[in-house]
Amino acid sequence: MKVVMAQKLLRANQQVARENRTRLGRVLTVNLVSSPGAGKTAILERTIAALKGAFRIGVIEGDIYTTRDAERIAVHGVDVVQINTTGLCHLDASMLARALEEIDTEALDILFIENVGNLVCPAEFDLGEDYKVAVLSVAEGADKPAKYPLVFQEARVVLINKADLLPYSDFDVEAVRQEILAINPETEVFVVSAKTGEGLEAWYAWLKSAAQKKNASSATG
Ligand code: MG
Repeated sequence: MKVVMAQKLLRANQQVARENRTRLGRVLTVNLVSSPGAGKTAILERTIAALKGAFRIGVIEGDIYTTRDAERIAVHGVDVVQINTTGLCHLDASMLARALEEIDTEALDILFIENVGNLVCPAEFDLGEDYKVAVLSVAEGADKPAKYPLVFQEARVVLINKADLLPYSDFDVEAVRQEILAINPETEVFVVSAKTGEGLEAWYAWLKSAAQKKNASSATG
């Protein structure tokens, strides 16, 4: 019985995700997923500062209880909407649908969604995004792609963050890159540091290209 319920729930989520996708039209929508503390918000802060001159950016912040990340993002002068899941470990498409009512998507080129920090549950839920982007920090250890493969299978981009900590760690970037590519050969892997800014230009270039492509598409595309 439980299995049936879960399938029903995921099917219902998929329907709302399709509606979100239609509603978002030409807006490039990126769903950021990672464990707690991997650096999603820090990467977003850097990314917004780098791209807000060229693109109109909005952010939806998912968090279990607090507005701390939303407050950090609001400082950068972009539209931000907070979703509090009050205990749930992930965002779902209905939560995004409600948040989209609070944001003028017509006035956006890029929408970032920061999911709840969790390396398991967010991978299961399509919100209506174009891409999931996973953040894996050096501090978490190199075994995470093997232990939590679904997140890495779903992610179009993996940002290996906290590269500034590599000298103090036995994290083997090339081995991890190969492990990620074995799970999903289509994945782009960028090694970055949100602290120093190292490596982020390649991420920005990927985003710019994806945004230009999506923004030029028809609203129904
Ligand atoms: Mg955060």
